[in-house]
Amino acid sequence: MTLPTSQTVAWIENPGSEGKLVIRDGVSIQQPGQDEVLVKVECSGICHSDCRNVEGMGKYEDIPGHEGVGIVVKLGEGVSPDLLDKRVGVKWLWSACGKCAACKKGKVNHCPDQLNTGRSVNGTLQQYVVAHASYITLIPDGLSSEVAAPLLCAGLSLAGAVSKVTPEVQPGDFIAIVGAGGGLGHIGVQIAAQKGYKVIAIDSGNDKRALCKEMGAVAFVDHAIEDVVGSVKALTDGEGAHAVICVAGVPAAYYQAPKLVRNDGVFVCVGLPPDDFMFPMSPIEIANRGLVIKGSSTGTNEQMDELLQLALQGIITPKIEVYEFSDAPKIIHELQRYEVTGRKVVKMPA
Ligand SMILES: [Zn+2]
Ligand SMILES: [Zn+2]
Repeated sequence: MTLPTSQTVAWIENPGSEGKLVIRDGVSIQQPGQDEVLVKVECSGICHSDCRNVEGMGKYEDIPGHEGVGIVVKLGEGVSPDLLDKRVGVKWLWSACGKCAACKKGKVNHCPDQLNTGRSVNGTLQQYVVAHASYITLIPDGLSSEVAAPLLCAGLSLAGAVSKVTPEVQPGDFIAIVGAGGGLGHIGVQIAAQKGYKVIAIDSGNDKRALCKEMGAVAFVDHAIEDVVGSVKALTDGEGAHAVICVAGVPAAYYQAPKLVRNDGVFVCVGLPPDDFMFPMSPIEIANRGLVIKGSSTGTNEQMDELLQLALQGIITPKIEVYEFSDAPKIIHELQRYEVTGRKVVKMPA
């Protein structure tokens, strides 16, 4: 098969407050190096964290996207020929060092020397993306690419985050998820509910309310019209949830969310506020309340495979809407305004 030499991509112009995503043709296709493959992308989810690239919140490559599904069309040196023509997922974790303590424990998602798709290398919002052969995920036959895409970041991030509430929090206990109706949150509601936790979903609007209920939340608190702290306490015998997973990345969410967790409970940081924002709690309060504060970034390879199998069985059902690639800039605007319920996935031009 002869491959083209140039392609259509989504490109960030002027990253920063004036930054915008534009569709650009005629961009050259990168070639896979040692241990790398070239993937022809079928579709890619668009994640709220892609807005960080556009807004210049850190150092990113020009092409965002980290939820891509496609076919391996070319192999670099040292790659097993078995990978050719396989349908694979390209995730946020582009590669890890394989040598550090986190990697040796299988926690590659917390490798200090990791490279990230759309941050350290160009992302999946292009027709052809270069990926590391050891960090792509095989997509099981029978699972559609559009359903698999949001599991690669949104699903995996929340599988990782929900796993972090243990061992302190057990099935039957309350987990409050802040930002429950978005791409990550809604899959998190379903994962936590499937594991037997009672999920209190916090977000705003009737679409997100309906989605969170459909995903298995026992309650929904609308932060735009309700007293969130009072409502969560009323649902939890006045004490607060056993665990809070803060998926929302706005500073206001981080000011409020610690008030939703009971003493001796677990607080999991997932959402990404601006880099200079600090966790808004005093060590005295953390100490007196006996809070356990954990960080979570994506998940492990085992969690990825488990999630894909659950999706194949119809147990995990991300809510997706499929759009044309040319809609990607508009979707970024909607994500910036927190208007997206569930996940929007774009189809790449053939
Ligand atoms: Zn993401
Ligand atoms: Zn490592």
